[in-house]
Amino acid sequence: MRHCCQFKADDIYYLNDTDLFSSRILSVGFCPVCQKPVAELIEWRFDGVMNKQSVSGINAQNMLIQFQNDIVYSVRELNYKKLKSKPYGWKYGLNRSDKNGRIRQYACDFYGNKELVKSI
Ligand SMILES: [Zn+2]
Repeated sequence: MRHCCQFKADDIYYLNDTDLFSSRILSVGFCPVCQKPVAELIEWRFDGVMNKQSVSGINAQNMLIQFQNDIVYSVRELNYKKLKSKPYGWKYGLNRSDKNGRIRQYACDFYGNKELVKSI
């Protein structure tokens, strides 16, 4: 994203398609120089023309409110869900025995997620 300087978006929202536009992405973040909220909308018109709108301050807030109902998911939410859900990506097995001597086999990922596969 860009305002006083180039900076990384704090969150990225994926929006529903409209009649005219698809692949709509709304990035939001705070300018590290002036601390203003910045929102940047990028969407593709049906004829392949890109529409880019970048606003800051109160207009950034308004843009977010305007598109609030169009949000399908956000990157931050997705990451949060990943961290809170079943293991994904690279997995490794882990065996634990409980106090009754049963072995519990878990599939684990590298994000701290654990899922019981079976107990023997
Ligand atoms: Zn700025």
